[in-house]
Amino acid sequence: MRVCIHRGSKQIGGSCVEIEKHGQRLIVDFGLPLDAEENTIQYLPEIAGLDGSDPSLLGILISHPHLDHFGLLTHISPNIPVGMGPAGRRILAAAAPFLPGNWPTPTHGWNYQSEQSFDVGSYRITPFLVDHSAYDAYALLIESDGKRIFYSGDFRAHGRKAVLFERLVANPPTNIDMLLLEGSSLGRLKDDKQFPSESDIEEQLVQAFSITEGLALVHTSAQNIDRIVSILRASKRTGRKLIIDLYTAAVLEATGNLNIPQSNWPDIALFVPQAQRIQIKKNAWFDLLKHHAANRIYIEQLKEAPKKSTLLFRPLYQFDLEQGNCLKGATYIYSQWEGYWEQGSYDKLKDWLERNAIPKYSIHTSGHASPVDLKRIVAAINPRRVVPIHTFFPERYVELFPNVEIHNDGQWWEV
Ligand SMILES: [Zn+2]
Repeated sequence: MRVCIHRGSKQIGGSCVEIEKHGQRLIVDFGLPLDAEENTIQYLPEIAGLDGSDPSLLGILISHPHLDHFGLLTHISPNIPVGMGPAGRRILAAAAPFLPGNWPTPTHGWNYQSEQSFDVGSYRITPFLVDHSAYDAYALLIESDGKRIFYSGDFRAHGRKAVLFERLVANPPTNIDMLLLEGSSLGRLKDDKQFPSESDIEEQLVQAFSITEGLALVHTSAQNIDRIVSILRASKRTGRKLIIDLYTAAVLEATGNLNIPQSNWPDIALFVPQAQRIQIKKNAWFDLLKHHAANRIYIEQLKEAPKKSTLLFRPLYQFDLEQGNCLKGATYIYSQWEGYWEQGSYDKLKDWLERNAIPKYSIHTSGHASPVDLKRIVAAINPRRVVPIHTFFPERYVELFPNVEIHNDGQWWEV
């Protein structure tokens, strides 16, 4: 097999790898760079056949539904098959109508089942479900002509599905010629340190909720399902209901997993902000609203019981909460990647918090494995070569792992 990292050899986000054997090509991940201001074609890697006209391009395998791994699918022919987890595919479809910009919703291709192999041309693919901050995330084993590549995707060992990491360490794929390994944590965390676990996050949330006299506003991605579980658990422990909007309700249902919080659970309520009510009316989403309205509440109820409520905050709630006088004693908990805040994505929100004298806390943990856990997985798989991807520090791999081979973006090499 020949392999080329089109993007990702020296950066986090926008990953894209192309693999070629006997004139048959596969693309693995097709991400929008994290620093892209808009999702436009200028970020497309130079790969032949993205218009669907070249049969040598067999398809695109997406590791998980994070924009920096699938976002550029918007710009390619819908005829190109796209492999991904079935729940991930449903989540993208459920989220699409609510989100601005070009949100791709791949409709056909391979639906992964963990550890179930399938063939694409002369390739055999085996997805492995992994623990990550995106739901339905996979590592991918790609085999052809006796050669075996393991693509880690994004993963961690400290989330609510940490057991998946332990299972992989205990029972790793063997005889791996090349491990393409993400290294997001390098440069962010000391080599001997661990990130807080999702259970630690739950404890920190319990503490923050306990000292909050009013509404607890927790700002996270509705697609970070592990985090929503932590927020719900912490809310229950502090006598609060979790309030969600229609977008979140739709995404939670799309997981297809009845163990994941749902809009009709007794400790969950639906509150539809004004901006979303306009969207619902405009797009006639009345059936969707009705479907999730079993526990619907209105602004008056939120105002009456702020200390008994946690709001899964999105910036579109600002108007309603301010108008409805719901903010006395409120705290704001930022619970996602600090980079968005630092980049200035939430500068308007910052002003709003100051205007309403709402204190801000940060409670978050990474979606990525610590250096310690990266070492464990490399030792377990024991690959012939380790190639850095999805990292700002490829040169650090040499210090951490044996048999490292660094490749630049756009460079082809033989496996
Ligand atoms: Zn990710």
